[in-house]
Amino acid sequence: METKDWINGVIKEEEITRYLENGKDFINDGEIWQKLETNKNPEPQKVRDILKKSFAIETLEPDETAALLNVEDEELLEEMFDMAGKVKKKVYDNRIVTFAPLYCSNLCVNNCLYCAFRKENHVEKRRRLTLEEVRNEARVLAGKIGHKRLIVVYGEHPSSDANYIADTIKAIYEVNVETKNGNGNAQIRRVNINAAPMCIDDFKMLREVGIGTYQVFQETYSHEAYKLVHPAGTIKSNYQWRLYALHRAVEAGIDDVAIGALFGLYDWRFEVMGLLYHARELEKRFDGLGPHTISFPRLEPAANTPFIEESKHKVSDRNFKKLVAIIRLSVPYTGMIITARERADIKRDVIPVGCTQTDASTRIGIGAYSDKYSEQEAERQQFVLGDTRSLDEVIGEFAESGYITSFCTAGYRCGRTGKHIMNLLKCGKEAHFCKLNAVLTFREWLDDFAGDKTKKAGEKIIKKEIDEIKEKKPSVYPKLMECYKRIENGERDIYF
Ligand code: SAM
Ligand code: SF4
Repeated sequence: METKDWINGVIKEEEITRYLENGKDFINDGEIWQKLETNKNPEPQKVRDILKKSFAIETLEPDETAALLNVEDEELLEEMFDMAGKVKKKVYDNRIVTFAPLYCSNLCVNNCLYCAFRKENHVEKRRRLTLEEVRNEARVLAGKIGHKRLIVVYGEHPSSDANYIADTIKAIYEVNVETKNGNGNAQIRRVNINAAPMCIDDFKMLREVGIGTYQVFQETYSHEAYKLVHPAGTIKSNYQWRLYALHRAVEAGIDDVAIGALFGLYDWRFEVMGLLYHARELEKRFDGLGPHTISFPRLEPAANTPFIEESKHKVSDRNFKKLVAIIRLSVPYTGMIITARERADIKRDVIPVGCTQTDASTRIGIGAYSDKYSEQEAERQQFVLGDTRSLDEVIGEFAESGYITSFCTAGYRCGRTGKHIMNLLKCGKEAHFCKLNAVLTFREWLDDFAGDKTKKAGEKIIKKEIDEIKEKKPSVYPKLMECYKRIENGERDIYF
């Protein structure tokens, strides 16, 4: 089929209009600006009441988030950061999840002004991995580095359509190699994807092959700014096709869906409001099922992409920390992803106020994990990374700072996904399973992959966690220790 014909067949109007209310989508730009305006200079007491609501793990109202976005007073801001940290601890405790991105193809029919993969960027070296190359990437990620979760990324192109995506997911799950320390079988246990919006039938195909989370970013929630950066005539220029992608995914039976905005395309406070409206819309439409995670990438430099330097909406580090905390407070139960776009020092500053997941040992060139070329090569990747530290290094630092890295992927394999996990998170029960599984999977990882320094720091944290479980949950302690010993004796992939 000609590329042009393929492009014309992607968008199914009926799969947009069915979700509109009175012909309109759920982002009303005027209403968002009006809420930001009317909630200026909020009274400290009002802000403190909102913080209490967050601590009760309730999604905020748009007026409440708008009030937080208007807090300028340094002391009140510190209170917000403090509460964001407490909310995170209440829902996720000291667990952190790591993953790696796997870029399968940089061919793209769109022309997003900010992205090095855009079709008119002629300096980009284009490539789509074969399924064997995809397996090779997964072998390195699972066997040499020790990742268990991936986010697999694709440009939008007929050669990387839903059939190809489904084949790559299957190929990755097939990989089973020896671990770095020769202790067992290394596998990728959860394959999440970040790919362009699809129709319901295509999403059903991905569900069949065991997709973890489906993630897509709206980029900007402003209708006007969206138009400016996504040239007319491209698939991506259709704002509503993208806005309702997750509705279609849920309808197709994928119940872990993830939202995000690319910060730097428009006013950052507006984007936080957009994310909140999106989360609330999903909750309303799907009986409490909100976003599994929220991402908040900032624009990074990219090869031959002058738009980025010219952007008027770049987000400062100070405002970045603020927006992370406000997302945490506004959608208290959601997972929050900070990526290797950000430098290590920024991550250290903002993880405590909200983030629950990060990538490490990251490479974003096509075929970059198995190829022997330098870490970053601008013409092969989408943008330039801020943090290229290894997974071992990142986990070691987490352990020294009191975080336990969880490789738990049990949730979706035993039905703790979607609404079910959300309800558990809201009432603190998921944390119960999660902590036990964090201990077991971290033990496994330390034995299979950790370098000496990380192992030492990891042993300390794992001992602390076990002591805590013994004291606080004596009834599960014996079962935990039985599983723990089985892992020490070489069994793998045991979970509650
Ligand atoms: N092509 C698909 C799409 O657009 O939905 C897949 C995702 S794209 C490869 C992954 C994400 O990277 C985009 O949604 C965008 O938010 C982000 N991105 C693109 N260019 C970027 C840049 N220069 N800096 C940071 N993030 C960028
Ligand atoms: Fe293509 Fe996605 Fe990049 Fe846009 S952001 S040019 S759709 S890869």
